[in-house]
Amino acid sequence: MSKSFHAVMTQKDLRPAYYDDFHCLMGGCRLNCCRGGWHITFGKKDYMTIRKQKGTKALNTGLAHCLRRVRQDVDERYRYGEFVLQNGDCPLLREGKCGLQLEKGEKVLPFVCRTFPRVEAPMPSGYLERTMTPACEGVLALLWDLEEGVEFRSDPLEQEEWETFSYEEDGESLWAHFQDIRELCIDILQDRRRPLPERIVLLGMVLEPLSAGETDVPGWLARARAMANGDTAGVVKEELLPMFLVHNVNTVLLSRDADQFSRVQKEICTALGLPGYVVGRGSIQPGPYLAARARSEQEFKGRDHFFENLMVTVFFHMRMPDLRSREALWRSYVNFCSLYSAYRFLTVMSCREGIEDCKTELFDELVLISRRLIHNRQRQEAFRDDLFRHESSTLAHMAVLVSG
Ligand code: SF4
Repeated sequence: MSKSFHAVMTQKDLRPAYYDDFHCLMGGCRLNCCRGGWHITFGKKDYMTIRKQKGTKALNTGLAHCLRRVRQDVDERYRYGEFVLQNGDCPLLREGKCGLQLEKGEKVLPFVCRTFPRVEAPMPSGYLERTMTPACEGVLALLWDLEEGVEFRSDPLEQEEWETFSYEEDGESLWAHFQDIRELCIDILQDRRRPLPERIVLLGMVLEPLSAGETDVPGWLARARAMANGDTAGVVKEELLPMFLVHNVNTVLLSRDADQFSRVQKEICTALGLPGYVVGRGSIQPGPYLAARARSEQEFKGRDHFFENLMVTVFFHMRMPDLRSREALWRSYVNFCSLYSAYRFLTVMSCREGIEDCKTELFDELVLISRRLIHNRQRQEAFRDDLFRHESSTLAHMAVLVSG
């Protein structure tokens, strides 16, 4: 098939309604994004801007040793430099405030510091999508209270905000159908007639033919809508708990950074009978998980909407499904299932024996795992590729991953 080039101008935005209600918790935030060992990277332009700054002696001393280059085999528009943390904190913090912003104003901050937890990007639907990451406690607090679910808003953009989304049509990409496919997926995720794990498996059932090469997208959409209205009871398998646990312990242990997540790693592995928190040494004990699951059902009773809101937020924030190609579509679905699985596992483990305030622990764990998985593309890809390498990326495996 011959290739054709398309450019879509975005003249309006699309955002979750809660985007307008966000306020940084500042001093009330337990996992402040400037603290706790989270490596924030930024592009070359931001790196150069910071290098040029001069201010008071205190600022200049901080600036002299605050930057370093990151590995060079990645896209330097996004990952060129990072702050050299001091005891896990941003070196420019002064009494809890950003010293660079205090002296030089917000405009010299790296883009990520100016905008976190917000992200925006033009999409092939003609919308500039504004999203928020769940790697921020303030965002989770908003999702916790949204009983009616996530709603979306759209407004026209000022002309200077217009952007272009460009893509090449080669018969593989599905960008031309992005909005229809996206809407269907979000409708399925928000359909409260069935439990959330069942909705996620249904999502895979409807996306599978597209990833396998279906070209009649309008016909597929009609069939997918009909399938979404049909019976899907029994598609989630409850009996494969050992596989679910091994997968998620591996996710939790994926890497050992000296950050706040190491406490969670250690405590969860100890709770599940893994001495030295090494997979393969000792065997995972399902008993403590099942006890924690029973407790979590009580602790988070009436909060099903929170977990739905969380997954809708992740789906929207990560621009899912990825429609660059049929293969990318399925990879993004596998990624989504993996994330849900990790969130589910940590939700249960936040109610493990010894935890007094389960909601606080839940928020901490969700923020920390989101920072590790959503904001670290290499880690996310390595983890997902592992599923493909072990031929564990089929729909049947995804049904297991969401089953715990
Ligand atoms: S994580 Fe969110 S709420 Fe906390 S300091 Fe950062 S932006 Fe504010």
